[in-house]
Amino acid sequence: MAEDLQEFLTGLDAEIRAMGDWGAVADYIPELGRVAPDQFGIAVALPDGRVLTAGKAAQPFSIQSVSKVFALACVLGRIGEQLWLRVGREPSGDRFDSILLLEQEKGRPRNPFINAGALVVTDELLTGRTPRQALSEVLSFVRAAAEDDDIHIDKAVARSEAENGHRNTALAHYLRSFGNLNNPPEHTTGTYFHQCAIEMSCIQLARAGRSIAGLPNAPQMLSPRKARRINALMLTCGQYDGSGNFAFRVGLPAKSGVGGGLLIIAPGRASIAIWSPGLDGWGNSKMGTLAAEKLAEFTGWSVFG
Ligand code: GLU
Repeated sequence: MAEDLQEFLTGLDAEIRAMGDWGAVADYIPELGRVAPDQFGIAVALPDGRVLTAGKAAQPFSIQSVSKVFALACVLGRIGEQLWLRVGREPSGDRFDSILLLEQEKGRPRNPFINAGALVVTDELLTGRTPRQALSEVLSFVRAAAEDDDIHIDKAVARSEAENGHRNTALAHYLRSFGNLNNPPEHTTGTYFHQCAIEMSCIQLARAGRSIAGLPNAPQMLSPRKARRINALMLTCGQYDGSGNFAFRVGLPAKSGVGGGLLIIAPGRASIAIWSPGLDGWGNSKMGTLAAEKLAEFTGWSVFG
């Protein structure tokens, strides 16, 4: 099986590179706009401890919103169910950085993966901690989950987003006006921008997802119940307003980032990371989604059978 899968991944890398239909990199964060879109990497962590790879699987990239999964895991570990008083669990059907629903729903974001919801999660992470301590909690979680200390924050990306992140700044102030932000908005956004600027390779990210996939060789970072809930949120909300399309095409819980990364969970079977920086209209990796679709078809790993 692993041999067949390795052969498939090698072929997939060649196929994706031959297609050349990469999508456009996110340029609203200028530092991300400098990344060449024509790149592809994939890593698949298996229950026996092996990590199969193809393409640029060892190349670090900006994980961006994939970090929201790890921040959520930290906060659920700390306050559990209380989080749902501040943020919902429904798909938004709106852009990742939309402010529209926030007004209608009086400052309680739809879910923890749209930017407004992620800001609330980061704000919760700041309770009783300085921004530096909160950031170090997320980073430590990711390093422990990947069993790899060579994971760092790209300060140039964090700065670039801080200088240009007017929508997130607006969201934070708006949340504060509804009383759903406990810290000074600049502390919350500053922590959030740094959390999003964590750099990881596909190999590191696939390893970090093993606990969410419940793989037997994974470090014990999450109870099975929490992992199940994070998977449910990834499936329904992980690709923003493209979540339905992703579930239809791939059938697996996943979280995307505007750096072109994807963490995909095949519960009990594998933790998969794909990176291709060109995005589709929803802000999700274009070739990454196609690769995920082909992988799910080849393996039969869709949660829908
Ligand atoms: N740091 C990005 C933002 O807040 C994350 C968005 C994403 O990766 O989808 O705009």
